[in-house]
Amino acid sequence: MAAKGSLTAKGSINFQDYDAYGFDLDHTIAKYKLVTLFNVAYDCVTNFLVNERDYDPCIKEDLLKYKDFICKGLFLDVSKGNVIKLGNDGTILKATHGTHLMSREDVQKVYGKDMQWEMTATVRKHLRNTTSEYRFFENYFDCPGLVATARIIDSIDQKNESLDLAEKEKLYSKAWKDTLDSLHNMYSPKNFSAEKGGYFQIVRNDPSRFVEECSADIKRWLKSLQQPGKIVFLLTSSQIDYAECLLEVCLGKEWQSYFDISLFHGRKPGFFTDGNPFYALEKEEETEVVTELQRNGCYSQGNIDDFNKFMAKELGKEDLKVAYFGDNICSDSYPSKHFANWGTVLVLEEMDAEGYLCSDGTVPGHEQDAEGYLCSDGTVPGHEQDAENEDTGRGVKRRKVLEHSSLVTQEEMDYMLTDFWGPFLVHREGKPKAPVEMNTFWGDVIGKYSDIAVPSLEYLAGVPLDHEFDSFCGNPKNTLGFHPGRPSSLLP
Ligand SMILES: [Mg+2]
Repeated sequence: MAAKGSLTAKGSINFQDYDAYGFDLDHTIAKYKLVTLFNVAYDCVTNFLVNERDYDPCIKEDLLKYKDFICKGLFLDVSKGNVIKLGNDGTILKATHGTHLMSREDVQKVYGKDMQWEMTATVRKHLRNTTSEYRFFENYFDCPGLVATARIIDSIDQKNESLDLAEKEKLYSKAWKDTLDSLHNMYSPKNFSAEKGGYFQIVRNDPSRFVEECSADIKRWLKSLQQPGKIVFLLTSSQIDYAECLLEVCLGKEWQSYFDISLFHGRKPGFFTDGNPFYALEKEEETEVVTELQRNGCYSQGNIDDFNKFMAKELGKEDLKVAYFGDNICSDSYPSKHFANWGTVLVLEEMDAEGYLCSDGTVPGHEQDAEGYLCSDGTVPGHEQDAENEDTGRGVKRRKVLEHSSLVTQEEMDYMLTDFWGPFLVHREGKPKAPVEMNTFWGDVIGKYSDIAVPSLEYLAGVPLDHEFDSFCGNPKNTLGFHPGRPSSLLP
């Protein structure tokens, strides 16, 4: 129910009201083992850069030394060789040149006294990597490329002290172009069947090294969505061969029974904007163009209009309410909300890494107030280490308890959290007394385009389908869209 207090902006989402439930695959249904993914991806990127483009083999070593540099959502200002943590108003909150911290004065020298990044409006408008001038790193598939590029920039500076700035900038740009080639080489969809590029070969060999099997609770929950008069669908940008390899681990050989229709190689966000046709699939190959989709089918590519026609025909009504569950801000939440007006649920693994409150009443036995304190002095077995005590001054101790799902490991938390860059959603100096608003670029985008954000599907699987979740209501200042409660970085 809508919580009371200063953080409230009314608006809610109730899944029972929806006609269709759609799921992304990577990092949503398929929970990756992030440390393995990161390390294998980093090896593939750097092997390519060293073997094919002759970069110094030192970039392959000592990844652990750079662990604190790893952070989702950073921007590379390509020709300048700078990495930026961006604020919601375009202010550069923190920046490095290569991997080295830039002082405030350094930032002002390059970007001006007000430290505004001139590409902000372009990024905000498209929420895509539209030009070669910048790149943002939105997931753990491409973050290894940022670490590799930043390390190359360090070595360019070290080896070419005498070069002038323009010459160095050419080398920085080339470093990113080569890294981008390495990412394309790794993830090019045709490389799964061709057994090239390194990454797909390794995953294919043992996919359970990379993704977790869905718990019995998640499987039961997915099945419970398949009610009469509703559609459950898979919409992933992965091609069917790679996706099937993961789905067999996550949901078993019978993975297709969880979905009424399965859509692959969806090219999100293009699925919502580009009008690509659907293709039939035969033995994992795209064959002819299909305009009329069939229940229980598997299709490749496609577009929102033909898919809407299919859903309307199946359910016998127009203007369907669709809820879509995905982890990617730019290819899941943003386009499905902005172009299709779907209900959007962001699966935000950083919440799980930081820890979160259980203050919305959806986790039985964890009744916290809006400030995040347990209202009683009862203990929660197994969570004592995460508790922070606060003396209320009246001799009563209140306990603040942060939760993590059972899926996230300590090693993954160490990779996802960074003291150097600080949290993903907020940038702040010191420890504020009041709950904080999101002030990073990505916090702002999450608040605008997600209805709610949750740490995992595992959490949602434990909440009754007809629960009324408070939503962000398109307002990033409203942090009640986080469930089961605000993440640690937004707490006082
Ligand atoms: Mg995904």
